Amino acid sequence: MIDWTTATCEEVLTMVGSIYLRCGEPAVMQVKHRGRDEGPYVMCRECGEHNARNRNAVVLARKALPKVDVISYEIAEHLMPEVYALLSRLEKQS
Ligand SMILES: [Zn+2]
Repeated sequence: MIDWTTATCEEVLTMVGSIYLRCGEPAVMQVKHRGRDEGPYVMCRECGEHNARNRNAVVLARKALPKVDVISYEIAEHLMPEVYALLSRLEKQS
């Protein structure tokens, strides 16, 4: 099992001499490159999606969104018309 609370992106950004410099951002997905005898690796969203799109990697697992994110999106959706109304009112006043 991946501990998503501590996992950091393993994507190698560059090499300095013989040292790999890794991305280190919080990891949100696990990817495996097709046909490569290495990995799988955990990566941040940016690196993981880049590898899935451009480097022939498949996403094996994703960090689950915390429930609160889903709820706040729902609240935001409900609030949106009111926010727009408020913004347009402010715009007219200025
Ligand atoms: Zn990364």
